[in-house]
Amino acid sequence: MPTVEIDGRPIEVENGTTVIEAADRLGIEIPHYCWHPGLSISGNCRMCLVDIEKSPKLQIACNTRVNDGMVVRTDSERTKTAQKAVLEFLLINHPIDCPVCDQAGECKLQEYYMDYDRQRSRIELPDKVRKKKAVPVGPLVMLDQERCILCARCTRFLDEVTQTHELAIHQRGDHAEIRLAPGKTVDNPYAGSIVDICPVGALTSRDFRFRARVWYLQKTDSVCGACANGCNVEVYHREGQVYRFLPRANPEVNEYWMCDAGRLSVHGLQGEARLTMVLARAAEAFAPAEWDATLDAVSARLRSARAAAVVVSARATNEETYLASRLARALSARLAGVSWSPADATGDDFLLKADKNPNGMGLAQQGIEQTGVLDAVLAGIERGEIDAAVVLRSDLVQWLGRERVAPLLERLDYLVVIDTDGCETAQYANVVLPIGTYLETDGTFMNHAGRVQRLRQAIVPPGEARPGWQVLADLVGRLGEEDVPSSAAATFAALAGSCAAFEGLDYDAVGAQGAPAAG
Ligand code: SF4
Repeated sequence: MPTVEIDGRPIEVENGTTVIEAADRLGIEIPHYCWHPGLSISGNCRMCLVDIEKSPKLQIACNTRVNDGMVVRTDSERTKTAQKAVLEFLLINHPIDCPVCDQAGECKLQEYYMDYDRQRSRIELPDKVRKKKAVPVGPLVMLDQERCILCARCTRFLDEVTQTHELAIHQRGDHAEIRLAPGKTVDNPYAGSIVDICPVGALTSRDFRFRARVWYLQKTDSVCGACANGCNVEVYHREGQVYRFLPRANPEVNEYWMCDAGRLSVHGLQGEARLTMVLARAAEAFAPAEWDATLDAVSARLRSARAAAVVVSARATNEETYLASRLARALSARLAGVSWSPADATGDDFLLKADKNPNGMGLAQQGIEQTGVLDAVLAGIERGEIDAAVVLRSDLVQWLGRERVAPLLERLDYLVVIDTDGCETAQYANVVLPIGTYLETDGTFMNHAGRVQRLRQAIVPPGEARPGWQVLADLVGRLGEEDVPSSAAATFAALAGSCAAFEGLDYDAVGAQGAPAAG
């Protein structure tokens, strides 16, 4: 394996490693626009020029493979002069409209200008080449042609990853510009990814632009729950509101990308139907209730049931699922799993899965059966054998049909619904317990390939809602179970100690990139 020295620091790397990759491993940032680890090398922006000993000319770090004994300087006077010159060229026709540009705060032109340039423009504004601004090129994407630096990241993504070829570079010289191919719009299922990788404000998200300045937002690493793939995401939020998901690189799951359905699913997690208070039925209507008194009443009522059932969906976390099992055990109740996807749900052979449940594999690995047991539970209710039920994150009325389920729910003497939203099933409940979405709790999902991945609480649940694991642990404790976990991490440890698929795992082992299920 060759050893290269970069800015005086040696590193041994595999054959074929480029200088920009070797520097990255040393924590040395070589500025770049067109290079992206998920795309082919274009080498057009020239921002990554570096000084290589014995080479008469500067070389681009993105397309230069290291040789044994190579000596590289990323901060020589020649390199600094080149970086300034490249930035001056890139900015010649740039409109410098940073105050009204939504990329401000995460724009590589702004950042590199401050880090490597800081010279006054020699071009007066009226002399700049003008191009079109705010051109909608797809449902999710807005194009500003005069901010574009022609790095070709967007066109390479559309050519190489989605192979849909909607954008191309037209014209030449300083009139070159990104344009739609004739008859096309950027409306493929991964269109939002070109906004993620555009290094400047030329492509912005029609869903997010002008909704928040990015420097006001906080970022939390988590996982998208819109389908069984479990794409790794960064959740951007402020004061209890989530503004956007961006993909987080994970070569085992989603590389550098995510689909638009997952990206937009953030809005469905904070709609007007969210439950914000405990509700207990008094006569015909619901009335707000206290957590402690309600949990006391619920546990007492469930304990006195003739026979109870617990239903948990594949939208619950592994921790919630484990505690639902403990709840069923404490009540000697039937435990049924359920998962649901819309009839028109589709998937593809890239990231999108037709299974829109994020934790179906976790449910299965915990030994919770679905259809057969659920049918048996519903039959038991119909025969009057089961008189009480706890339903967790499962809108049975919507998923199985009102005609089939509503009469059965009406037959129950006691129904507890634990959910995030005032779903149709909740209308039949005696008690509704509000819980947080997967953005509002710590926990884990297991994706379709059996990879256990961490969810980190980004925001607190609204109103009086609590994390699901906490509500279930409080109920289980009231039913006399011992060693009830007092945190999501402790719940996962208890699960790992009792279920072979999670054996040996803890939150540290799962880490930022997830871990395969044991065995
Ligand atoms: Fe690069 Fe953005 Fe221009 Fe596409 S629109 S070529 S990603 S700067």
